[in-house]
Amino acid sequence: MLSLLKNAQVYSPRPLGTMDVLIANGKIAEVSPNIPLQSNLGLVSIIDLQGAILAPGFVDALVHFTGGGGEGGFAYRTAELSFADAAPTGVTTLVGALGTDSVTRTPAQVLGKARELSAQGLSCYCYTGSYHLPVKTITGSIEQDIILIPEMIGVGEIAIADHRASQASLQAFIDVVAEARVAGLLAGKKGISFFHVGDGNGKLNILREIVSCSDLSITQLYPTHCNRNRALFDDALLFLAEGGAIDLTTSTSPQLLEQGEVSCPEALHAIYDKGLDWTRVSFSSDANASLPMFNLEGELVGMQAGKLDSLYAAAREAVQRYKVPLEIALSVISANPAKTLGLRDKGQLAKGFDADCVVLDPQSLAIKQVIAKGQSIWTEQV
Ligand code: ZN
Repeated sequence: MLSLLKNAQVYSPRPLGTMDVLIANGKIAEVSPNIPLQSNLGLVSIIDLQGAILAPGFVDALVHFTGGGGEGGFAYRTAELSFADAAPTGVTTLVGALGTDSVTRTPAQVLGKARELSAQGLSCYCYTGSYHLPVKTITGSIEQDIILIPEMIGVGEIAIADHRASQASLQAFIDVVAEARVAGLLAGKKGISFFHVGDGNGKLNILREIVSCSDLSITQLYPTHCNRNRALFDDALLFLAEGGAIDLTTSTSPQLLEQGEVSCPEALHAIYDKGLDWTRVSFSSDANASLPMFNLEGELVGMQAGKLDSLYAAAREAVQRYKVPLEIALSVISANPAKTLGLRDKGQLAKGFDADCVVLDPQSLAIKQVIAKGQSIWTEQV
């Protein structure tokens, strides 16, 4: 069965103008101005998008789809992500991670959940390990997990600059990044090392030390939560200028913004305004994570949960409130994270890529329909 989407304003995420998009076997077979196919014999399903925007399915580099949390005790564990909650958000590629708790939650549960959501139509990957070193794995080593398990694309989210981190030595971090890198090479993956960055004074310094004290490249490192406070965000902009990729967290709350978090739309506007390389900037949702709030004594004073729909909401706000070009706002939730993670079939509306697409209203930018691997998984009910 072929599907032909006609008269779409295609953002690949680059703006390509009005195009037809042909989907075959879950892949994008063609993107061109006028594809002359008829609906003879019912072999082609033709949908006229009438000038709606067609964007790549969104790529989220950090989703706690098994739930997370526990800071504050068991009453604070957060819920698992369901397919029904995920489908309307436009996020079609999700990378799952453990968080602070790697005892009552395990890498095997993350892998199982990735397979559940993939069986329902999404594309799911995961990181082996968790916040702490030495990391917990499924097979006994980072290397074996990445080489032997298709969904495992790297290691993470390893905590740095955080009172919840394992406070490990520089050499321990170098060993982990090196192991993930070599395993990635052998498995044809990026073998990325994904870092949770906390409020600590060290900010991104340990990542710079990893690069300066080894032969490892800065491109193997992917720090997240880089917008959690102004000082860390400023340091992240330096890291970006040094050639690194940075990830910003879209799930937020009024309290976190009050405490100094830089909102993702504002952060992206600043990066665009300063003329920095936004192709190495991404947003992730941190969905279903706990968002704990601590006072100066390190005591828990509140808790919220991350939300998957915050990913596109932040990109949309960057366009509508901060006048960031749509191409850039879409890139940070599609092509950019896909490239940093090494997901070669994801994040672009181009021939040969997976047919993950989001239909957007051209005026309001609201999500109208979500297509994952060529199948419609959600349509707005009017
Ligand atoms: Zn985190």
